[in-house]
Amino acid sequence: MSLFTKIINREIPAQIVFEDEKCLAFRDINPQAPTHILLIPKKEIASLNELTEQDAGLMGHLMIVIPKIAKQEGIDERGYRVAINTNAHAGQTVPHIHLHILGGRPMQWPPG
Ligand code: 5GP
Repeated sequence: MSLFTKIINREIPAQIVFEDEKCLAFRDINPQAPTHILLIPKKEIASLNELTEQDAGLMGHLMIVIPKIAKQEGIDERGYRVAINTNAHAGQTVPHIHLHILGGRPMQWPPG
């Protein structure tokens, strides 16, 4: 069971900001911006590399949830960044797909 599934199951505490039947969003424990939310599917999928056609609706749903969270957090107008780190070169540390939603400050590009 992934660390994030334990958060879904309330076995590990987290500051939850959004939940529905398909996904959960909570504040990152080590925020890299004034607003740093992790949005995860409740289905435990290790990384983007493990997605199948059956997950298309689920991933589309996450895309629709992002702007709802951004609006709730008050970062929709000024802007925000969404990142999905995949495997070692991107720095993925938790093998459960998670979308980083970062906002509240200007972002740099390239991200490094
Ligand atoms: P990754 O490096 O895999 O893209 O992102 C994993 C993220 O999960 C990191 O930003 C890290 O701070 C966050 N994280 C790791 N463990 C916990 C935890 O127990 N609770 C919360 N809220 N975030 C965590």
